[in-house]
Amino acid sequence: MKITVLGVGGMGSRFAIMLHQAGNDITLVDGWQANVDAIRKDGIQANFNGKQIAEKMPVYTPAEIDKSGIKADLIVVFLKSNQLESMFEQVQALIHPDTYVLCLLNGIGHEDVLEKFVAKDHLILGITMWTAGMTGPGHVELVGDGEVELQNFEPAGKDFALQVVDVFKGAGLNPKYSDNVKYSIWRKACVNGTLNVLCALLDCNIGELGKTREAPELLHTIIDEFAAVAKHEGVDLDTAEVYDHVAATFTADIADHYPSMHQDLVQHHRVTEVDFIDGAVARKGKKYGIATPYCTLLTQLVHAKEQLVGAK
Ligand code: NAD
Repeated sequence: MKITVLGVGGMGSRFAIMLHQAGNDITLVDGWQANVDAIRKDGIQANFNGKQIAEKMPVYTPAEIDKSGIKADLIVVFLKSNQLESMFEQVQALIHPDTYVLCLLNGIGHEDVLEKFVAKDHLILGITMWTAGMTGPGHVELVGDGEVELQNFEPAGKDFALQVVDVFKGAGLNPKYSDNVKYSIWRKACVNGTLNVLCALLDCNIGELGKTREAPELLHTIIDEFAAVAKHEGVDLDTAEVYDHVAATFTADIADHYPSMHQDLVQHHRVTEVDFIDGAVARKGKKYGIATPYCTLLTQLVHAKEQLVGAK
C-alpha cells in the first residue's frame, strides 16, 4: 500500500519503520525542519528493542508538498492533537478524492477537525497501545509491543478499513477491526484525562499519584464527567470498569512511568493535548448543558502551567 505518515515523531517513526520493513511504499511528512533534515541525511535512527537500526524513506516538509506530487492510498496521522488543524491546512494537496486518513491520536473530537479536510467516508479512527519516544531530531526509542484497534467512521469506509487491518497485520502491528471504536477511544481518553493531566499538574509519576489519599475521588469524579458527556455522543461507558482499569496502573509495571503530558509539559515545556482530552469534555459538556467542573478546572490549570513554563 502507498502510505504517507504525517507527523514523524515517536509514533509516526514507529509505524513508518514497521510498515516500510513489511514492504509498503512509505513517504514521510513532518513540520519540524531539524527532524526532516536529520531523517533526510541518515534515515530514521531507532533503538528498536535494543537493536540500533536506520531506515531511509523519502521525507518532505509541508512547504514541499505542492511540488512533491505525493499521492497515497492512506495517510497515517501521528501529530499531537494541537498540531492537527494547522498541519492539515498546510498539506491539503496530499488529500485526493480516493485518499483515506487514519487517526490514532490520543483524545476525543479529532473527527471534528479532520472532517474539514477529508470526506467522512474516507476517515478511519482508532487507538493504539504501541508506544514510542523521540530522543532528538531523527532519533527514536521503540521498545515493547502493542496493538491497534480501528474502525471506519462511516459504513462506506469499511472495505478499506479492512484492507488497512491486513496491511498492518503484515507489518506486525497487531491490528484489530473494531465494531465500536468510539467506546475504546473514550475509554482510553479517560486514562489520559486522569493520569496524564494529574501527573503533569502534580509533577509526579503514576505510582506516586496512586499513593495520594485524593486519587480515588479525583479519578471517580473525572471519569463520571467523561461518562456523562460520552452518553450524549452515544457512548455508554462502564464507569466502574474504567475506574478499575485506570486504578490498576497505580501498582502495575508502569507505576514508575511519567505519562506523556508530564513529559511534554514538565520535562520539555511543550504545549499539551489537553484541549482534546479534559478540554474536549469541558467544551462538549458546555454544548450539551452538562456541568464538568473538574475537567474545566484541570484544563485551565494545564493551560496556566503551559504559560508559566513558556511552553511552545
Ligand atoms: P511526538 O511529539 O513524538 O511527535 C509529534 C510531532 O511533533 C511530530 O511532527 C514531531 O516531529 C514533532 N516534534 C516532536 N518534538 C518536537 C520538538 N522538540 N520541536 C518541534 N517539533 C517536535 O508525538 P508522538 O508521541 O508520536 O504522539 C503522536 C500522537 O500519538 C499523540 O496524539 C499521542 O498522544 C499519541 N500516542 C502516543 C504514544 C506514545 O507512546 N508516544 C502512544 C499512544 C498514542
